[in-house]
Amino acid sequence: MRIDLHTHSTASDGTDGPGQLVAESRRARLDVIAVCDHDNFASVLPAQECGRQVGLSVLNGLELSCCLAEPLGGRLREVHLLGYGCRHDDQELGEELTRLRAGRLGRVGEICDRLGALGLSITEDDVLAQAAGSPSVGRPHIADVLVGKGFVADRRQAFDEYLGDGKPAFVPRYYTPLRVGIGLVQRSGGVAVVAHAWGPGSRAALPLHVLAELVTDAGMDGVEVDHPDHGVEVRLLLGTFTNRLGLIRTGSSDYHGTGKTGNALGTCTTAEDQYERLVEKIDRRGGQR
Ligand code: AMP
Ligand code: FE
Ligand code: FE
Ligand code: ZN
Repeated sequence: MRIDLHTHSTASDGTDGPGQLVAESRRARLDVIAVCDHDNFASVLPAQECGRQVGLSVLNGLELSCCLAEPLGGRLREVHLLGYGCRHDDQELGEELTRLRAGRLGRVGEICDRLGALGLSITEDDVLAQAAGSPSVGRPHIADVLVGKGFVADRRQAFDEYLGDGKPAFVPRYYTPLRVGIGLVQRSGGVAVVAHAWGPGSRAALPLHVLAELVTDAGMDGVEVDHPDHGVEVRLLLGTFTNRLGLIRTGSSDYHGTGKTGNALGTCTTAEDQYERLVEKIDRRGGQR
């Protein structure tokens, strides 16, 4: 079984609609994928329907925009939390997702103003048109507008020079505190897994002792160990850690279609026994698969 538990669609910053995502997953010889769009579930049911037609299992997923301060009162870092099996009709989680998406929308104007001041003239309407069909407007959509206007070559250049954290057009938005996010995922029946834990944005906030605290005092369920952003040594360290604490170890591509290079479907995968543990936990919590 080939299992890829973190993919994106046009419901956030991926470039494949649910049908195409499913077709590409079959082409990549996957048996199971999870659709984990940023801060919304819009593609999950359509992808599950397409999956049923071609014999691909599609797990209900979510990638929640969270934050955590670095240890010893350091700066706030963005940390992504994967939620598997959250009930879509959970009111408390739904309200938080609405807040997150409003925060995404609320910063677009200011980012456009900053880009304009740098000589890159784009409008909020350009961005909303680019994000058409996505409930979660993101910087990748802004990057795509910049690419379309010939200001940058690709999303990567847009982030490196303008949109990334600390770059001149960066504007922060609302993020859910990580422990709150874990609680929301679990109370809606879901399983909470920290995404790309030691990726470039989150490592400083998540040293091993903090990860361990998240397990002991917030009940975190697992860690995405195998991910394109993690080198061999990181996987070894995080893998040892998940073993020692009995956590679920997942692996995934974080596929974004053509929106991200190095994240081809199935580049990293989840072991079958870990997937079974995940699904059993969702069922025990009364979640929605
Ligand atoms: P936002 O959702 O607006 O906070 O934007 C963050 C998203 O941008 C992340 O989910 C990544 O998928 C994407 N991203 C971050 N850096 C890059 C990059 N260098 N190239 C392409 N996409 C990126
Ligand atoms: Fe993304
Ligand atoms: Fe992420
Ligand atoms: Zn992702």
